[in-house]
Amino acid sequence: MLRQYELVERVKDYDPDADEALLDRAYVFSMKAHGAQQRANGDPYFSHPIEVAGILTDLRLDDETIATAILHDTIEDTLATQEEIEKRFGSNVARLVDGVTKLSKIEAQTENERAAENLRKFLLAMSDDIRVLLVKLADRLHNMRTLHFIPDAEKRRRIARETMEIYAPLAERIGMYEFMNEMQTLAFRELEPDAYASITKRLAQLSDGGGDLVARIGSGLRMHLSRKGLEAEVTGRQKHAYSIWRKMAERHISFEQLSDIMAFRVIVEGAEDCYRALGLIHQRWPMVPGRFKDYVSTPKRNGYRSLHTSVIHSEKVRIEIQIRSREMHAQAEYGLAAHWAYKTKEKTDTQQGWIHDLIEILENADSPEELLEHTRIAMYQDSIFAFTPKGELIRLPRGATSVDFAYAVHTDLGDQAVGAKINGRVMPLRTPLANGDQVQILRSKAQSPQPEWLGFVVTAKARSSIRRSVRHIKRDEQIVLGRKLYDEIVERLPTALARGALGNALRRLKLPDEAALMEALARQTITDAALMEALMPGSAGGDVKPAPQRSAIQIHGLTPGVAFSLADCCHPIPGDRIVGLRRPGEGIEVHSIHCDALADGVDADWVDLSWGSGSDGGTAQLSVVVRNQPGSLGVVASILGAHGANIVNMALSHRDAAFHTNLMDIEVHDVQHLMRILAALRAADVVASAERI
Ligand code: MN
Repeated sequence: MLRQYELVERVKDYDPDADEALLDRAYVFSMKAHGAQQRANGDPYFSHPIEVAGILTDLRLDDETIATAILHDTIEDTLATQEEIEKRFGSNVARLVDGVTKLSKIEAQTENERAAENLRKFLLAMSDDIRVLLVKLADRLHNMRTLHFIPDAEKRRRIARETMEIYAPLAERIGMYEFMNEMQTLAFRELEPDAYASITKRLAQLSDGGGDLVARIGSGLRMHLSRKGLEAEVTGRQKHAYSIWRKMAERHISFEQLSDIMAFRVIVEGAEDCYRALGLIHQRWPMVPGRFKDYVSTPKRNGYRSLHTSVIHSEKVRIEIQIRSREMHAQAEYGLAAHWAYKTKEKTDTQQGWIHDLIEILENADSPEELLEHTRIAMYQDSIFAFTPKGELIRLPRGATSVDFAYAVHTDLGDQAVGAKINGRVMPLRTPLANGDQVQILRSKAQSPQPEWLGFVVTAKARSSIRRSVRHIKRDEQIVLGRKLYDEIVERLPTALARGALGNALRRLKLPDEAALMEALARQTITDAALMEALMPGSAGGDVKPAPQRSAIQIHGLTPGVAFSLADCCHPIPGDRIVGLRRPGEGIEVHSIHCDALADGVDADWVDLSWGSGSDGGTAQLSVVVRNQPGSLGVVASILGAHGANIVNMALSHRDAAFHTNLMDIEVHDVQHLMRILAALRAADVVASAERI
């Protein structure tokens, strides 16, 4: 644990004018307040706020922030009060501590409620002062560093999940990549211990095999630039286990196929030198097409600037290279914190823009779950840029469509969109935009937002605007669905309903009318058993018939009442892009967009479809090549088991001395679930490859 004078010295080092007495008072106050409290590992509790303060000195933050870190748990966990903090440390520190406390207070609520509620307060606190968020992130980072001391496994996993889904993306969003990386690595180790161990082991083997390959390639790079008269600082590293894991999952490749697991950073003096270095590197080593990105002329939304490229290095490995100036580097490492500490005490425009978007979503969101979904979407995606006819630049997440574009320009424009001209050609509204597209929205006052748009828009703003206006339509649909469920439940009762039973049930359930009951059934806020009991007291525990199998699949784009089936040839699962083939007299066959059967059906009637939210379940066919050694199939089976995937069918298709190929059908929830399973299989030593057929 940092001692008092060490902490003060660290701050004085970068800020000679820091208020030493303030830091001393905070240290003593916090130590006394926490008294004999202990952390899970038996350390005095007081070591935690001090370590959090230590983390923040690495960001060179001001004395008020450091004092806030030292005091951040005193209001929540000790007898200290807000008034006391204000009297002793002034109104600024008191306001900051209060902000951090508000975030911690809600951690006792249920997971969904809490996560969304947490974010709400986060954002409000942040828009007030970004330092609150910095303290909270450092607090979470230290808690992750000491996570393994917590004995309760479920609690550890919950904290790790929350870190992965909320805090790491927040750190990324404000450009604090060091924080993000460490949080992800620690959370990944907790959530996927086998994959973590397997990838870490393979990384270690790799550096044993090639000597110090990273150092060799790095000094080669520096020498090449220096010979051409450009002095640069070159550092290299192997990528983090988690980012390797994510690439394996996203690109559907195995560890062996993943060639760019080394990344290098070239730091030069100014922006011009960046382009010179890039030229020299591309002259010497062939670039990998499609990987070059220029964030110097077009910075990321969070202010990040760098040139990115990948080249094929002479050692037969692909390497990733980032080129940036010293100033860009400081900002990239510590993001807004650096900006805040080095430049100005005002918040930047980019930060304001992001918060502004989110606050608008907060106001429109219907439920905590919906808010969480919006926020995740808003945080995860990378940007593209498109132009209005007047040449105004609109920043959108990758995958955004003309509808997202229209809503980004103006809510009214989105609401009235009927079509779009992309680069002068009339295109469907659902067409994903590409970087640099010029988009003209065609509008009509008679138009209103279409529910189908929800199937393809990606921006939170478009989604919440559309939802707001289609909410009443969705209610009608739910009432229809609820009535179906109601009829099924009545069927299952032991005897016919008495006259007036429904009216009595509504009174017992305290519902105003039938429509409210049907809606509640569709939303599943009333269980089957509760309704049975209300309709026929005493029946729920007794002689009722079993529930029929209900399909959890919902597909948008179908005319209500039309029968559909999932095609046997391609086994689409929720998350796949799908289209329907209309077969006269047989309803609609749902195919994956990549299915060969579609080529035969060109003349048939195509129907544009998308999965309804919450669709769950499907059978995926896998081909898994495993090493021919005892126990290898057991490993595969236990990975599938650990991910909750049921094997419904399995056959050995090919076998030789070293490998055998297994074809298996497994039940999965959706594409994301399948991707996680495939990535876990690929990470296993005994698995040579795992593919979906
Ligand atoms: Mn804390």
